[in-house]
Amino acid sequence: MADVLTYVLHYEGALNKNSLGAVSEGAARAAEIGGECHAVVVGGEDLTDALCQTLGDYGATKVFRAEGPEGLAQPVVDVMAKVIDDHGQSYALFGGGLLGFEIGAGLAARKQAGVTMEVTAVKAQDGKLVAERPILGDSRISVSHYRGDLGIIIGRINAFEIKAGQGRSAEIVDVDVQYSPWSTQATMVKRGEQRGADVDIEGADILVAGGRGLGKAEGFELAEALAKAFGGNSAVAATRAVVDAGWYPYAAQIGQTGKTVSPKLYLAAGISGAIQHKVGMQSSEHIVAINKDANAPIFEFSDLGIVGDLNKIIPKLTAAIKAKKGS
Ligand SMILES: Cc1cc2nc3c(=O)[nH]c(=O)nc-3n(C[C@H](O)[C@H](O)[C@H](O)COP(=O)(O)OP(=O)(O)OC[C@H]3O[C@@H](n4cnc5c(N)ncnc54)[C@H](O)[C@@H]3O)c2cc1C
Repeated sequence: MADVLTYVLHYEGALNKNSLGAVSEGAARAAEIGGECHAVVVGGEDLTDALCQTLGDYGATKVFRAEGPEGLAQPVVDVMAKVIDDHGQSYALFGGGLLGFEIGAGLAARKQAGVTMEVTAVKAQDGKLVAERPILGDSRISVSHYRGDLGIIIGRINAFEIKAGQGRSAEIVDVDVQYSPWSTQATMVKRGEQRGADVDIEGADILVAGGRGLGKAEGFELAEALAKAFGGNSAVAATRAVVDAGWYPYAAQIGQTGKTVSPKLYLAAGISGAIQHKVGMQSSEHIVAINKDANAPIFEFSDLGIVGDLNKIIPKLTAAIKAKKGS
């Protein structure tokens, strides 16, 4: 048996998009090696039967539901370790994001299992799963094979496509977990919003990313006005240079030491396009850059480049979008 176990994050009755991608991927790959995809959910009364059963539509056959604090890594590690001990899944698959990294790493340490992070593709080979991960500034692909009973795969954010419509209702298995003493030391005080991070940049369809070219913290007002004009699922993101300078919150940082994003549209305002930034946004569907330096590296991987002063271009662009939308 080569089943795949995934973890599904949820908040206020909605299942996380990135986690649903992991369930779809887990189901597709498990089927190729003769197994099933199972999901773990942790939470309280909000985890209704109906919500859990929905995961069947994404390919999960079983949902292991545990009562516990949602949004913290260590309790989820306890639940996943117990489920694996009792049911013997061969792989644990995560959709990426900070929580996925923390849970995957914790589970790897607990189970002494191999772990691969920033995975962009999972393949079946000789009845086992292998994980592909871009390395050396994404110029090469490394392929990880797993030894032992468990392999842990942590995807790049949004690397796995959501495939709904599988038409099944997942079986719910309630799990009784004795949480480790250290897992109960941290409690969730509040899940709140931070300026610039109120829309999750990892889940946004349109990102207006600001860099040092915005000149100062107040320059982000231009980026925010543009994102607001786009409307819908838009958000503002930033480079490390500006979050280090305190112009914008760390939660909005894209890149090697920030978040990996893949929106439908990524618009760079005053960003040079350093490799450490590029690795976090290069899988965006459409890349547009505004930069006053025609030789800025960002133009090398942009679909559309606008050479000029963003202080003149962004207000005009914002006004044009508003006019087109009649707002
Ligand atoms: C270990 C390590 C990890 C790192 N991790 C990250 C990371 O996760 N994310 C990240 O982003 N960076 C990261 N960095 C930093 C990275 O190397 C760059 O320094 C950073 O991305 C540059 O940010 P920037 O593009 O905002 O600034 P700059 O490189 O200074 O670029 C500013 C750009 O704005 C343009 N500009 C200026 N004024 C205007 C104007 N009026 N109109 C239009 N354009 C204008 C300039 O021509 C320039 O191209 C990391 C670095 C290291 C060493």
